[in-house]
Amino acid sequence: AAGRTACLGSGAGLHVRGLAHRYSTGSGQGFTLDGVSLDVPPGAVHCLLGPSGSGKSTVLRLVAGLERPSAGSIALDGRTLNDRERWTPPERRSIGLMFQDVALFPHMTIRKNVAFGLRSKDTATRRRRVDELLVMVGLAAHAEKFPHELSGGQQQRAALARTLAADPRLVLLDEAFSALDPGLRVEVRGSVLTILRQAGIPVLMVTHDPDEAIAEADRIHVIEDGRITQSDSVSQLYRSPATRFVAGFFGPVLRFHGCPEDGQLATPIGPIQVSRDGHQGVEVVLRTRDLAPVAAGNSPWRATVLACRDLGDRCRVELAAKGERLGDIHVPRSLAHQVGGEIGLAFDPAAMFVFPWPEGLNNSKNRRIPTSANH
Ligand code: ADP
Ligand code: MG
Repeated sequence: AAGRTACLGSGAGLHVRGLAHRYSTGSGQGFTLDGVSLDVPPGAVHCLLGPSGSGKSTVLRLVAGLERPSAGSIALDGRTLNDRERWTPPERRSIGLMFQDVALFPHMTIRKNVAFGLRSKDTATRRRRVDELLVMVGLAAHAEKFPHELSGGQQQRAALARTLAADPRLVLLDEAFSALDPGLRVEVRGSVLTILRQAGIPVLMVTHDPDEAIAEADRIHVIEDGRITQSDSVSQLYRSPATRFVAGFFGPVLRFHGCPEDGQLATPIGPIQVSRDGHQGVEVVLRTRDLAPVAAGNSPWRATVLACRDLGDRCRVELAAKGERLGDIHVPRSLAHQVGGEIGLAFDPAAMFVFPWPEGLNNSKNRRIPTSANH
């Protein structure tokens, strides 16, 4: 009964509630996916974004039915695919899955590859549908070619046509574009998602790349260590990131630790006036776009130059303070900055994000903080 009450299988689109799964490994630790809930409405493109090993592919495998969850429910277009009592096998879920590895049949033409996905047995209908799909993905002129005769992007679109041939009610993309080189990736991704949007098919797209999610998603579900930590629009993620990971999505940041002391925050760059209760150490994340480098005397906050790279029009400077590495910023060449010298940092404290100190890390003032914790 508990399984049923947890299920919200009434509406169109995908509904996932309280999904749990566990992999145990020989070494003991294992991996736990816990309480994953998300909805993808009809016609929407949602991203599941998280670092490598956070459980993204596991969620997709559970939704596709390639793996059986230990708890939770999955419903698609008002039909419960999986809960405590019910189980629909993957081939009866009407879900299309696309991976990085396109896996077209090498000995079949593109036409035959696409036709493979069709359910209809009637030859004329099949032919018409394959033609339609090939036009849709822009491969009509390549129908009789073999996969190896197509570019990576064309192969990806052929795989999309084959996926669409099965009339999926949901398409799951697992890092589907990451094997393509950067220029092509954006183009192929754009065309694949446009086709899916026009077809009104909801998409849940897995990626570890914040830029990809920011560029494409109507909504981003952030997953960290097997848990959804934030599900929001891009602008909400930008304005109020729930975790340090999310705060790092929108470009480079400085990270340093802070310690509440006499109503302000003691930090390696100097004390900062913020209202914060408690005596716990915190991590401060400051987007470099929200700060200006100034001469050392012109700001109460300053850092030491650890290294400096001349980029021609400006310099990339690696900053440290009180033995803690903060991250990199760009500074104009006019701000002299010898290694070992000081730079002032001007910013509005309201632009800072403050998070509880990372669990499991010791609170030593000399701890080195990784500067890009995006993956
Ligand atoms: P992601 O796709 O976010 O990189 P995965 O969902 O593939 O992460 O994996 C999450 C965690 O589960 C990883 O630590 C991975 O090693 C572990 N894992 C994945 N599949 C298995 C499996 N079949 N057996 C044991 N552990 C697994
Ligand atoms: Mg994965």
